[in-house]
Amino acid sequence: MTWTASRTYSLAARKVPVVDGQIIGIARHGSHNATVKLDTGPVAVDILFAHPRTKPSATLHETLGFATVNTSTGIALKVDERRQTSIPGIYAAGDLANPGMPSVTTAISQGATAGISAQQSMLV
Ligand SMILES: Cc1cc2nc3c(=O)[nH]c(=O)nc-3n(C[C@H](O)[C@H](O)[C@H](O)COP(=O)(O)OP(=O)(O)OC[C@H]3O[C@@H](n4cnc5c(N)ncnc54)[C@H](O)[C@@H]3O)c2cc1C
Repeated sequence: MTWTASRTYSLAARKVPVVDGQIIGIARHGSHNATVKLDTGPVAVDILFAHPRTKPSATLHETLGFATVNTSTGIALKVDERRQTSIPGIYAAGDLANPGMPSVTTAISQGATAGISAQQSMLV
């Protein structure tokens, strides 16, 4: 059984319907109800959880020519385990380099790694 089939089976077992189709629009009704417009027809929902893909809000990374990675949750700067970008000597942390796990704690942790790595690169 494939992962998708397995997931569909698990949802069906919990009486959660799975509707196929490409989302072409969302109409909001009040604070909690919405109609998701699919190319196969509309689906009314009580609550809508959406996870849009993220992308950098500025274009500095493009201007400077940083390598990026296209992840399932958005575009991020490519960094190594020391948080060094594709341009030696430049380090990145936070949402810009981590769209998959965006949180203050993660950004702080990565910032510490980036800072320590930058300092070590100047000492070695
Ligand atoms: C609605 C919402 C709720 C969230 N709730 C939580 C939560 O409860 N707990 C949690 O841990 N995380 C939460 N997060 C995620 C968290 O806010 C981020 O992961 C975190 O702020 C990332 O920190 P950052 O420094 O990478 O980016 P940011 O906090 O986005 O900081 C980037 C900064 O760069 C500035 N900037 C952008 N472009 C330029 C430019 N060209 N020049 C100068 N400055 C620029 C921006 O103005 C901004 O101040 C939430 C996010 C959202 C959107």
